[in-house]
Amino acid sequence: MYQVLYQSQEEPLAMPAIRERVSLVTGKANLQMDRRLRSLRTHFDVPAQRIPGEKNLFVYPLLGWNPHFGKRTARKNIRGSVRAMVHHTYGNRCAACGRTPKDDQVKLVIDHMVPLDLGGTNEQENLQLLCEEDNHDKQSLFADHQENAAALRKSLALPEVHLRIGELLKAMAGENVPKELIVLVAREENHGDPTKRMRELRSLGWIIENTQRRKGRRVLSFYRLEHWEPWPPGGPQAAIAKLEWTRQRAKRSATDAAGNSSQE
Ligand SMILES: [Zn+2]
Repeated sequence: MYQVLYQSQEEPLAMPAIRERVSLVTGKANLQMDRRLRSLRTHFDVPAQRIPGEKNLFVYPLLGWNPHFGKRTARKNIRGSVRAMVHHTYGNRCAACGRTPKDDQVKLVIDHMVPLDLGGTNEQENLQLLCEEDNHDKQSLFADHQENAAALRKSLALPEVHLRIGELLKAMAGENVPKELIVLVAREENHGDPTKRMRELRSLGWIIENTQRRKGRRVLSFYRLEHWEPWPPGGPQAAIAKLEWTRQRAKRSATDAAGNSSQE
């Protein structure tokens, strides 16, 4: 596969063409291209680049050495005791799909929730268990969003959850932002509650569309920002808490009024 990618550096190929050439070289028809690509990517920078005007067609240019190769090695430097704690905390289960090695014959890997190159650490709170399949999906998600790395890093550094989500949506306004990226910048426990956060942003006058698409065994969810309002003075958290309080009070007085009228 390396040979094929190397030879097509000037004019990168899409996966069907790569597969065809690799099978010509190896003489094998049954090729696990995903696995081959994954192992190549540990050493080489092979992003998936969308073909302009095509929704789901990518070419795979071989750009050179993987710039994160050193950091990938750091991945292996997670202390044994931390590894054990992560396995224990996640009950030996994939955090995304819930499958286990025992029942589902999946292999679990330790994943950095916030990737190392976006400022994530080897600390336990940044680590989770994922099956190889979900880990691979996550890696290709980041490969597809390499051009948003700066926006992701900037959002991750903000002090409030609504600022982090909102600024990412603004940086990618009009685009379908995968839910996984929202979860990433939200930095909330147990993946947080993106649906609730979007509802809260909408209560500030933001217009955010949600679309869902089926892909294999899962449903992918995307958020697209159509309109936003300036951040309220004092920050979104305080403004949203105040709106919620007003709403609860209105609801209570409506219930009280209903109670009173039924007594009459
Ligand atoms: Zn999984």
